[in-house]
Amino acid sequence: MMSANVPFRIGFGIDFHRLEAGRDLWIGGIRLDHHKGAVGHSDADVLLHAICDAMLGAACLGDIGVHFPDTDQAYKGIDSKILLKRSSELVRKAGYQVANIDSTICLELPKIKPHSHEMQKVIAEILQLPENQVSIKATTSEKMGFVGREEGIAAYATTLLTVIE
Ligand SMILES: [Zn+2]
Repeated sequence: MMSANVPFRIGFGIDFHRLEAGRDLWIGGIRLDHHKGAVGHSDADVLLHAICDAMLGAACLGDIGVHFPDTDQAYKGIDSKILLKRSSELVRKAGYQVANIDSTICLELPKIKPHSHEMQKVIAEILQLPENQVSIKATTSEKMGFVGREEGIAAYATTLLTVIE
């Protein structure tokens, strides 16, 4: 077990994906109806990737690129819910459990609000957390930059891990 001389650890994750016409748009473990989708080796779920990185970072276990490299054919098109589950198992092996997550998705369209509760439910179930410990927020960038031009999306996540007694 990793040194557990502090009873909790904080982590931060950030992820970006390009948007292209004719691709599926997976965010927070669900597929959204939109004319553009995210480009990536996996299903390119920007929110789940940011959350994985926050969890792994909190446990000082590197990032998802280390554990699930995009050069590995095993992860081509993979459902990022599997990566989230595996990241939580890595964290657990290190002696920690997720206490809560806060996150923000940055995109112009589609609107996230009507779907955020479903995303929250999916993530909470995978991590076996009460729903009110998984916070999902969204913001536009007021039409500025790559998010504003709808060329790409970003997500930020923080998480708190507590030591497993
Ligand atoms: Zn990603």
